[in-house]
Amino acid sequence: MEKKVAVVAIGGNSLIKDKAHQSCQDQYQAAKETAKHIVSMIRDGWEVVVGHGNGPQVGFLLQKAELAEKTIGMAMSPLDVCGAQSQGQIGYMLAQNLQNELKVNGIAKTVACVLEQTVVDRDDPAFTHPTKPIGGFMTEAEAKAKASAEGWAVIEDAGRGWRRVVASPLPQEIVELEAIQTLVDAGIVTISVGGGGIPVIRNEEGALKGVAAVIDKDFGSSLLARQLHADLLVISTAVEKVAIHFGTPEQQWLDKMTLAEAKAYLEEGQHFKSGSMAPKIQACIWFLEAGGKRSEDHTAKPAH
Ligand code: ADP
Ligand code: MG
Repeated sequence: MEKKVAVVAIGGNSLIKDKAHQSCQDQYQAAKETAKHIVSMIRDGWEVVVGHGNGPQVGFLLQKAELAEKTIGMAMSPLDVCGAQSQGQIGYMLAQNLQNELKVNGIAKTVACVLEQTVVDRDDPAFTHPTKPIGGFMTEAEAKAKASAEGWAVIEDAGRGWRRVVASPLPQEIVELEAIQTLVDAGIVTISVGGGGIPVIRNEEGALKGVAAVIDKDFGSSLLARQLHADLLVISTAVEKVAIHFGTPEQQWLDKMTLAEAKAYLEEGQHFKSGSMAPKIQACIWFLEAGGKRSEDHTAKPAH
């Protein structure tokens, strides 16, 4: 029988429900819920590759590193290393819950988590205009000191203090693609491209090097889905449906849209918020344009 491959990108809310539920135990419980939904897809015959967000987790790791630098003089962990740490901790929680849930369902499948690097273009225009605030707030003096000592780009964030900003370049290449493909072909449930991948660049000789940037997990998962020639891309998030005229009195929830409609709405600009829904719609458009059959964007219950 032909394998049906689905890439399921789970949103930050699938792991951290709200501010009161951010502990590792809470994240583990949320991962358990998510694992049940994924296993129900596997029961229905899907080969599932799981991608996930890491925004809050990488933020916490970075703030811990900043505190450790201030209090015990520990050298600050670079952002790419924090990204790798977040893939490890989130991947572990998802993998263990998937393993337990598969066992409960009597499904003899193995789970693997692949630490993944995503190549971005070192000349991506995002590097000249970093926009993503990360890490804790600083005073103006601290921010300026970091800017001159470490070359950080810093901004004043809406009167709340100063923050570091990094680039959000477009993902170009999944370094571990062959390994992921091999696992999927072998029927192994694979977790990868966490947080869109650890951002890396290639130098003139082709050698890889981590960069301080963040990749959109929706774009990273879409790239993986295209490269795997997946049949389905699912992006799960906190809302039941996608709306047009979101957040306005004309708001209208949609059950379905065609590729042409999605492109037209995205172009109109006012429907999908940049930084939240717009990248998801763009991720689905890129997937469908590359020959993907179907994209879904809905709450943690993947239907198909
Ligand atoms: P995730 O962590 O899953 O990537 P995001 O917060 O980045 O979550 O994006 C999902 C959020 O986008 C939804 O919870 C919703 O508040 C918001 N959103 C923005 N525009 C729309 C829209 N047009 N339709 C539905 N939700 C939207
Ligand atoms: Mg998001």
